[in-house]
Amino acid sequence: MSEPAAGNTGPGAEKGPGGAGYGLSGSGSGEGTRAVRAGLPKPVKHEPALPGPVFAAHFHLPGDPTGPYTYGRDENPTWTLLERAIGELEAPGRDGVETLVFSSGMAATSSVLFSQLRTGDAVVLPSDGYQALPLVRAQLEAYGIEVRTAPTGGDAQLEVLDGARLLWIESPANPGLDVCDIRRLVGAAHARGALVAVDNTLATPLGQRPLELGADFSVASGTKQLTGHGDLLLGYVTGRSGEAMAAVRRWRKIAGAIAGPMEAWLAHRSLATIQLRVDRQNATALTLAEALRGRPEVTGLRYPGLPEDPAHTIAAQQMRRYGCVVSFTLPTRARADRFLDALRFVDDATSFGGIRSTAERRGRWGGDAVPEGFIRLSVGAEDPQDLVADVLRALDETAD
Ligand SMILES: *Cc1c(COP(=O)(O)O)cnc(C)c1O
Repeated sequence: MSEPAAGNTGPGAEKGPGGAGYGLSGSGSGEGTRAVRAGLPKPVKHEPALPGPVFAAHFHLPGDPTGPYTYGRDENPTWTLLERAIGELEAPGRDGVETLVFSSGMAATSSVLFSQLRTGDAVVLPSDGYQALPLVRAQLEAYGIEVRTAPTGGDAQLEVLDGARLLWIESPANPGLDVCDIRRLVGAAHARGALVAVDNTLATPLGQRPLELGADFSVASGTKQLTGHGDLLLGYVTGRSGEAMAAVRRWRKIAGAIAGPMEAWLAHRSLATIQLRVDRQNATALTLAEALRGRPEVTGLRYPGLPEDPAHTIAAQQMRRYGCVVSFTLPTRARADRFLDALRFVDDATSFGGIRSTAERRGRWGGDAVPEGFIRLSVGAEDPQDLVADVLRALDETAD
């Protein structure tokens, strides 16, 4: 067992309950082993393994106001442990990497974009990314930042990179599941002096480690498969540059986009089972995709783990697991609605990554460029045979 904990040498590294981290570094341990211990403090007699949430707006602070814990908008010991844990999964064994947690994935996303970009800068965003990005785009443009977009598949970002300050990648993209060659795009962006951020929400750090692929930031929603129970919102940024991360930290402070201690603690507790959940859910997602590919009413089936998927070759180069989301299109909106209604083990709900399967007709939101019958299905931890049987039965029962 090695220490101090890998992955977090920022201001949070030297503090927190139990002092130096007790997590395992990248070498000599598997991901499951790392996950169950990630971010834990050193064992202390009569203390719990994972200290409970610290509810504090302020901390006792006589004399000069020095850190680590002064005011609850700046730092909280429950965040410190979670940030260390996420850092150990996103960048095992890497020095000089820092993780910051936020109240949501969008808070984390906004913290990078709005702390790194200035009036007159140009940024490249995916045209097929998360549905709140168009809102972000409008806000960036209102601040005089030039926004260029490119689709995720086919590395089309290369054509609009010249003069950009930041390249924002979402791979796999939600909900269309296209993938781009992160290493290649990072190389091209760095050669032009641009920073690269990767939205790692869909892959999770067990599926893909953007910093190892050269990215400057890995940004994600912790609301989805990272925590996996559909009971909290959270976000994080892991970054390699101290200067850039200081700006992200400053943005968190001035926007006040902080995680509640209860959410942070729940997230840390859930992180211990990430390997179990991800392995189970992703294996079933592949089984389900295989079962769907023979169905005549299903078109546009996408799962990056399917060997014939257009994204598979690049995904296999840079991902170690392919996610729990399968997307496909049914012939009509009415058919898609009937199908969703007929499912017994799959809830009609948005979001993804939870241990209970969910699905939705994505077009109902109006934000994504998808057909009316497009379904995004998030595979949970049910028995694979139950889930596959349920989906196939719902298709059979709702045939025209
Ligand atoms: C959900 C999601 C977000 C936003 O996360 P929230 O926690 O809902 O704010 C960002 N990117 C992707 C790819 C997502 O799926």
